[in-house]
Parts: sequence; C-alpha cells; structure tokens
Amino acid sequence: MIRYALKCADGHDFESWFQNAGAFDTLAKAGHVTCPDCGSGDVSKSLMAPRVATTKTPAPKTDTPPREADLAAFKAKVEAECDYVGSSFVTEARKIHEGETPKRGIYGEAKPKDALALLQDGIAVAPLPFIPTRKAN
Ligand SMILES: [Zn+2]
Repeated sequence: MIRYALKCADGHDFESWFQNAGAFDTLAKAGHVTCPDCGSGDVSKSLMAPRVATTKTPAPKTDTPPREADLAAFKAKVEAECDYVGSSFVTEARKIHEGETPKRGIYGEAKPKDALALLQDGIAVAPLPFIPTRKAN
C-alpha cells in the first residue's frame, strides 16, 4: 500500500491509499479517484514540500577576519624590513632610484601627485593599505 497526498482541480487537499504506485495512475485515468469534498475526478498527486535537514552545525568561528590578519602581517613585515622615512619618502625614493643611497625598502608619506610622479619616472611605489606606525627619526 502506498499513500499519496492528492489535490483536486479546485485545490482541495486529501490523502488516499493505493495498492501501488501504478494503481493511482490507472484509477485516476479511469476517473475512479475523486475528491471527497467536491467529487471532482480531476485529481493529481500534490507536491510534497522538500525536507530540509535541520542538523545544526555551528559555523566555524574566527576571531579575526582573514583580511585584517593578512593586513596586520603585511604591516608588521613592512615595518620590520623597511625604513620609515616619513615625509621625505619622495626624496628618498628618488635618491634610491638614482643610486645616491643604497637600495633599500622604505615607506613613508607622499602626496598622491608625488607618488604618481614617481611611478611615471619608473620608480615602483605602492600605497600602503594601512597607516604606518610613526617612528621618531
Ligand atoms: Zn475538490
């Protein structure tokens, strides 16, 4: 025996037992399956709502969003490996480029137009995605 949730053309929901899956089709086609509410023979199997698994899995917790952690690591690397030159960044960058001072990594402040001028002269500069910790020079 198999139980089907059924629906008539008028939208009445009801349930009925059948001998097997094929029995419903045969009986319905022959008009033997009728709605108990209105007697309509226009009956079809109604769609059952799909079940959603409700097993609760807590989302993995992260103390710090990855972006922030990456940024902190990058900041630490820059501050450890590069010299802070403050507002003389543009001058220092040019000196390094011209070979007036030994090549080294520097960071500091530059006006956007000055940074652009450095780039146009082929000097690789990039904006830092953080505010540098100011060091006393
Ligand atoms: Zn009906």
